[in-house]
Amino acid sequence: MAGHQVNPSLWSGKNITVAGLGVSGISAARALAGLGARVTVVDGGDSPLLRERAAGLEAAGITVRLGDAETLPEGTELVVTSPGWKPSSPLFAAAEAAGVDVVGDVEIAWRLRGESGRKPAAWLAVTGTNGKTTTVQMLASILRAAGLRTRAVGNIGTPIVDVVLGDEEYDVLAVELSSYQLHWAPSVRAHSAAVLNLAPDHLDWHGSMKAYAADKGRIYEGNQVACVYNAADPATEHLVRQADVEEGCRAIGFTLGAPGPSMLGVVEGILVDRAFVEDRLTTAQELAEVADVKPAAPHNVANALAAAALARAFGVEPAAVRDGLRAFRPDAHRIAHVADVAGVAYVDDSKATNTHAAEASLAAYESIVWIAGGLAKGATFDTLVTKAAKRLRGVVLIGADRALIAEALARHAPDVPVVDLDRTDTGAMAAAVREAARLAGPGDTVLMAPACASMDMFTDYNKRGEAFAEAVRDLAGQESGGGAGA
Ligand code: ADP
Repeated sequence: MAGHQVNPSLWSGKNITVAGLGVSGISAARALAGLGARVTVVDGGDSPLLRERAAGLEAAGITVRLGDAETLPEGTELVVTSPGWKPSSPLFAAAEAAGVDVVGDVEIAWRLRGESGRKPAAWLAVTGTNGKTTTVQMLASILRAAGLRTRAVGNIGTPIVDVVLGDEEYDVLAVELSSYQLHWAPSVRAHSAAVLNLAPDHLDWHGSMKAYAADKGRIYEGNQVACVYNAADPATEHLVRQADVEEGCRAIGFTLGAPGPSMLGVVEGILVDRAFVEDRLTTAQELAEVADVKPAAPHNVANALAAAALARAFGVEPAAVRDGLRAFRPDAHRIAHVADVAGVAYVDDSKATNTHAAEASLAAYESIVWIAGGLAKGATFDTLVTKAAKRLRGVVLIGADRALIAEALARHAPDVPVVDLDRTDTGAMAAAVREAARLAGPGDTVLMAPACASMDMFTDYNKRGEAFAEAVRDLAGQESGGGAGA
């Protein structure tokens, strides 16, 4: 698959064990085998799906071992892990005991990039608890508007190894990195990077908030031009201060308020840059209007500022920031306006799978009937409910952990009407929409931002969002049908 030359002696004949038969594992295994490495993929599972995947890899000369995720294959010289594997996995203890390095696919991509004959693309990297995908998509859109050859890669779904080894040449990549990927990518050095925000998430994987923050902070290591942080989230600025960067690399903040020097911010509905201008003490450069950001919810304007900061660090002109933001379309299920029915707006934010994300979308509307619930993943809801209480006109609860939200509502918003549907079946969403419609009045927003994962009721957040949209369409149909008949 290699579209260009990589020094084969570094990989040829090397015994590499790939942990995990998923998207990134398959991509890494194929890439490494293509470079002449002797690859064994191990996975603890053993299902018809995994066997089918295994057969595909075996046809390419790759060994696959199913049903054992713990023992290190004989002769392993390097372990390449998939992001989901916990650092405490027995396989890694076995690797450590044998003196074998463990790295992720992002690390492999970084090493391969350095070995290619052609000029490697710069990496503009983004991490954070929420907003990563949206921000890299905005960034790629801006870079494209500037005429640069670019692509959004990484955690967003396109394995970065495939892009680094592919035929297509890029000037710059917009790289989404999860905390897991950063954990396993010790030598990545981005041109510039942003940490959007830092809230407790995935603590079961990382072991503690401190370890989670440390892994996120790795994204700033060795940055060349800019470390972009969120001025409203001091934890992100703290990570910048701790990072060891290249001489001359600057700390650049973004804020929803008026920016100080070396920051991007908002003044009277305009996104402005006081960082990448000649005289940052006295001047500011207009980049775009808040209305150019879709949707123009506060947290999303913050995402746009972070994307703009990275693009400006790379030398992109202000007009391209505006054009790129205007051309950007958000992915499905992220504050997607589904329909207006009887003067009530119905909004699908199924991607709000944790409390931090739901908090952002609840902050974007004035009078809300909130549909919430699902799998809480160990979260608590007191802060979220306290902050949103004033704007809640009603709440409809579904899903396995709905009692946790009901309790927080009883404590902090006792006057808000709550309908507990006591259901975890897929059809519950239609009932939830009907209940929400009953609670809502003209001017209100019915917001499905569940603050929970979806897997108790749906296969994923996409299916949950689709169920919501379908229920809203049914409601709209009844409304117009009822109106015609009356
Ligand atoms: P990620 O890739 O980090 O999961 P997404 O861009 O897919 O992020 O957005 C996930 C959800 O997080 C959105 O549905 C929205 O509710 C919320 N969100 C997006 N940006 C932010 C932000 N900057 N701060 C807080 N929440 C956000």
